[in-house]
Amino acid sequence: MADMLTKAGRSSLMARIRSKNSVPELAVRRTLFRLGYRFRLHRRDLPGTPDLVLPAAKTVLFMNGCFWHGHTCRRGQQVPKSNIAFWTAKITNNKKRDRRVKRQLRQSGWRPLVVWECWTRDPQRLESKLRELLEREKGGV
Ligand SMILES: [Zn+2]
Repeated sequence: MADMLTKAGRSSLMARIRSKNSVPELAVRRTLFRLGYRFRLHRRDLPGTPDLVLPAAKTVLFMNGCFWHGHTCRRGQQVPKSNIAFWTAKITNNKKRDRRVKRQLRQSGWRPLVVWECWTRDPQRLESKLRELLEREKGGV
């Protein structure tokens, strides 16, 4: 097997991350709830259909797969061993779309934040990352 995952394997991986009630998403929801944040799920009327919306904090969260959205972590920087041009173009397009969506959200008064898949594997890391993001979000209040 030249590549780490088959094409179908990658597709189902992405589908799992983006779909409702995935394990990483449930971990994020539980942590947010414990930290006292209340949220709504999958608001389709907002650009990019954010995974979680925190109306009181005017904040939206996207759960991003590290490979698909080109995270700076090891997984995100992994170069596929086959179809390099295809994957590179795909990831570049995803990153472009992410930037566009974030810009649209900011323009309509929302603060877009990204929760990376790799954070969700360790509950303590996830909690500290979420605290960090959301407290910065409050802008020193
Ligand atoms: Zn990552």
